[in-house]
This record gives sequence, structure tokens and C-alpha cells, in this order.
Amino acid sequence: MDARTFSQINGKPIVQSTGYATQPPLQRFLLQCHQDYVTDSSGAVADYIPELKKANPAHFGISLATIDGHVYDIGDSAVPFTIQSVSKAFVFALALELVGEKRVEAAIGVEPSGEAFNSIRLTSDNRPFNPMVNAGAIACSGLIHQVDGESAFDRIQEKLSQFAGRELGVDEDVHRSERLTGDRNRAIAWLLRNYAVVQDVDAVLDTYFRQCAMLVTARDLAIMAATLANRGINPVTGVRVISPYVVAKTLSVMTSSGMYDYAGEWVYRVGIPAKSGVGGGIVAALPSQLGLGTFSPCLDTHGNSVRGLKVCETLSARFDLHMLNRSADVRTCIIADYDISGISSRRSRQPHEQQILEDHRQDIRVIELIGALNFAAIDYVTRRLSSEPPAAPLLILDFRRVPDMTQAGARLLGENLAVLGKTGVTSILAGFEDQSPISAVIRASAGDETRLRRFVLLDDAIEWAEDQIIYRHGGFIQSKETSHLTDQMLLAELTAEQIQALAELSTPRHYDTGQRILGAGEPANSIFFLQSGMVSVKLASGVRLASLGPGMVFGEMAMIETERSADVWADTAVRCLELPLDAFSDYRNLNPQIGLQIMRNLSALLARRLILANAKVDLLSAY
Ligand code: GLU
Repeated sequence: MDARTFSQINGKPIVQSTGYATQPPLQRFLLQCHQDYVTDSSGAVADYIPELKKANPAHFGISLATIDGHVYDIGDSAVPFTIQSVSKAFVFALALELVGEKRVEAAIGVEPSGEAFNSIRLTSDNRPFNPMVNAGAIACSGLIHQVDGESAFDRIQEKLSQFAGRELGVDEDVHRSERLTGDRNRAIAWLLRNYAVVQDVDAVLDTYFRQCAMLVTARDLAIMAATLANRGINPVTGVRVISPYVVAKTLSVMTSSGMYDYAGEWVYRVGIPAKSGVGGGIVAALPSQLGLGTFSPCLDTHGNSVRGLKVCETLSARFDLHMLNRSADVRTCIIADYDISGISSRRSRQPHEQQILEDHRQDIRVIELIGALNFAAIDYVTRRLSSEPPAAPLLILDFRRVPDMTQAGARLLGENLAVLGKTGVTSILAGFEDQSPISAVIRASAGDETRLRRFVLLDDAIEWAEDQIIYRHGGFIQSKETSHLTDQMLLAELTAEQIQALAELSTPRHYDTGQRILGAGEPANSIFFLQSGMVSVKLASGVRLASLGPGMVFGEMAMIETERSADVWADTAVRCLELPLDAFSDYRNLNPQIGLQIMRNLSALLARRLILANAKVDLLSAY
């Protein structure tokens, strides 16, 4: 669809920049909003702070920041204006972080006041109603001042700058203007002092006025909101600005009291936690989805930006964004649930080991999880674990596709693993990085006495579980063994003399632990028979294709290809025999029957690998 048809379909002319038709739909939608509402000049700029009267009523900017850090900017999204009351949400978050919820809650309530933002009334126990009205915000600045004294504002500036992802400045004229005229706020601050909520009135008020005079753009507000929506991590800079716990508290008061005495209507109609300011800014944060920042200085009778309000209402309605309009099917969190029949680790096993694994394949259960996991999803997983006996003694849970898990979910899982542990189940967590805080919570909830193992890679976890099964059932792990060429699968069916002849063509080699034996891209001109130790075949990315032990062959693709396709590393000290390909070819020419048998053995080895690979692909496509 080109730009012209789009404008005709909507029945009204719209201004398009070049490439309009190729812009992402959300960009086009926001542009349309801007065009629809830019003509609305109702409302009035705030004038009770004289300097705010100078605002240009024509300014109109919209920015939307996504959770993956993309920012859509429309109109005057780079025009600076004073943050005013929007700061209250972020300073509340800072106060919670700095002095803790007990002190904050002792000083400030969380009830909507039902009155104007600058009301002088307090609750019956002499606290401000909530941190989104002036009294509560001044009390918040007071708490920070109690910790930091004169540098309280520096702390606020630093924190809000982290939220925005850039250094935020102050409009000194607006600050001065409010300091000279802000008698109502002064009255509030003295009242708070009377109830010992605030001590140094002048210093606290100056901090508060300064925080309100900080300069932001619609883009800044969008990123600040997206940081809240992203559980406290700024999605543009990647910096953790605030804890998820504080985010939830902040969004709560934004929801109940963020939009002045329009808050109830706002939740009902828009349903996105938000805060507005008399400078014309609105910040709106929809958890796990987006952050929105709008700027347009003309305000309605409640003090909310007229155009900003419309943008929010339209966006929410158009994309079904009301926070209470959610659904989720927790059953999709398990992408695969299997035992190890046909799905072994990439470690090649000796026939006797394979037999043990085959006989006890149901002793290892692997559950692969996907998506952000909350309490409901984990509850479902725990029920799946207990409702489908018999319990496998080795349970592997793979989290590599799980970007996030709530604390509650992690605790629930830990508790469940503890219960399973008491029945003899060893749980193995795969897919967590070494320092993962989520796996730490799972471990802590499982308790010290619960046997829990952790691996970064699922394949390593399966290999470890296989080793346990082999040990438990009397097998031995091959790396400690020494093998003779007669054990070589590639040389199966050959006579002792024929094998001896091949041995004489070969050269003994030794490698130290960690040494690279072969490199991808090198000419493939020999085959290695592993006699003792372990090697891994790996791609340059570090992904392991196979681990091999005594009795196995590597570099055997040289019989088919001219270049090595992967690296081979010595995992332990390694002893092997290297058979040069040209000597082997001469031998094959002289003994065509033997050559044929070896090629047959090679085909069998490759077929086994293919069957395993197919089983893995099949497993995932079946879910
Ligand atoms: N600095 C302003 C005041 O305290 C902020 C008001 C607002 O944005 O709601 O009056």
C-alpha cells in the first residue's frame, strides 16, 4: 500500500514524509495521532508558575520506547520542557530504594486523595495521602534530604538521568520562578514539618522545586517509562536503574494517583500506569510492553495535557493495551518434555554404555521451558512434574529460552525441587549463566540439603545425567580406559592382521589437555584412532558437536572431504594413532574388500549421527 492509498482509505489528507509507506505500522499510527490532535488547541498552559506561561502552546511531541530499546519519535519529541510532577514517580522510586519501604510508608500514604495535586489536606494520621500529590512528593524529597543533606538534589538528578539514559539539566528560570512564588508548597512543607514529616523546610523545598524544574523531552519520558516497563532496566542503555520490587510499588501509585483527580477515569479508560505534570508532559509505562512520553503544554481542568491524554486513550484503545485486559496460556511454557530414548548427549558412547542408557532411558527426564515464567507458569510446571509418575530419578530443566522468571516463580520451583529431592530425584538446571540471580533464588528455595546441579549447556547436563546412569548400573566411563584398534567401530569386522597392517601405517600421537588437535579449514589428510583420553569436536562458536572417547575415530570425514569442518580439542591428555590418508588409500587399493568394509562402517557411524540429529529436530517440531 502506498502513502496515497493509505491517506485515501482513512478519508482524510495526512502529511507524509518520504518513505511513509515503508515505516513500521506503530510509527505510522503515532504520526496519524499527531496529525489528528495537533489541531486541537483546547486547554491552557499552566500559569500559576509565572515562567511556565512562556511555554509554546503549539509544541506537540510523542515518543514511544519499546522494551527492546527502540524509540519512535514524532513531532516535537526533542523539545525540552520542565518535568514538574512527572518527577514525583521517579523520586518516589528513589526514596523507596534509598530509605526502604518502612520509612517511606511511615511518612507517606498510598491512598488517592480525591483532591487537587496541591491540596493542603493530610490523612487522619497526618501523612500526605500519596507520593503523587505535592505534599507526598515534598515528603519524598525530605526523606532523600535526610540521607543526603545538601547533595539530595544531586542524587535525584543522577537517578533521573539514569532513567532517561542521559544527563538531565535544570531550567534555572523555572526553578527561580517557582521558588519565588511557590507559597502554597511552602505552606504544605511547614504543615509537614509540624507533623515531623519534614525537617529543614527551605532546603527540602529547594530540592523539590529543582527536581520539578529538571529539563526533559518526550523522548526522555518515553525511555524513563520504558525503564519502569522493563522492570527497572533501561532498555536503551542496558543499565539496571531500580529493582523490580520498587518498580511495582511505583507503578502502583501511578495507577491509583498518577493523573491528578482524573486518576479513576484514567484507569478505567486507558488502563496504563501514568503520571502527568503541569509542564505538559505525560509518562505512561505498560509493564513488559512499552513506555510512552508525550509533550503538549495545554492542560485540561484536571491539569493533564489535552493532546497527551488523547494520544494515550487512542493508543490504548487501538492496540488493546489496558493492563487488565490480559490473557495467557501457561501450558505453552513447556516446549518439550522427553526422556532420552533416541536423544542422547553429543558424547559418543561405547556399546556397553549405550546399552545401559537404552535400558534406563526413562530415568532421565528433560523438560525444556520457554518464555518469561511467572508464578502461574511455574505452578503448571510443578503440577506436570507431580502428575505424571513414575518420577525419573534425574530431572533436567532447561531454561535457555527463558529470558526472565519472577521471584515467586523461582521460589515455587525451588520448593518443588526440594520435595522431589526428598523422593530421591536429582534436579539439574541447564541454560543459566554462572551468575544467574534466578538460579540463585531457585537454589536458595530448594535448600542446602537438596541435590541440585547446574550446567550452562543442556547437552552437558544430559551428558552428566547419562554418566550417573552408567555409573549407577555398573558401567564405567570410557575416558579412563585404553582401547586397542580392535575396539574401533570404524574397523569392525576386520581381522587382527588387517588391523595390524593399518596400525603399522599409523604414527602414535600425544596431546596435552586443552591442546587443539585439528583446526577447521585445515587440509583433511589423515584419520585419528583415539586410544585413551577424551576429545571434543567443536565449531568455532564453541558449540560442541561431539565428545569422543577411546575406541572412537575423529577426522574420519577426511575420507569424504578435503578440508576439516570443525576443530578437535583434547579435553584430557590424549593418546591416538594418526593414519595418513595417502597411505590408507594405497592400502585400500591393494585390499578393495577391506576398503569397502571400512566405508560401510563409516556409513553406519554417520547414519547413527543422523538418526540422533533427526530425533532432536523432530522432538522440537512436535511441540
Ligand atoms: N512544581 C509544581 C508544583 O509543585 C508541580 C506541579 C505538577 O506538575 O503537578 O506546583
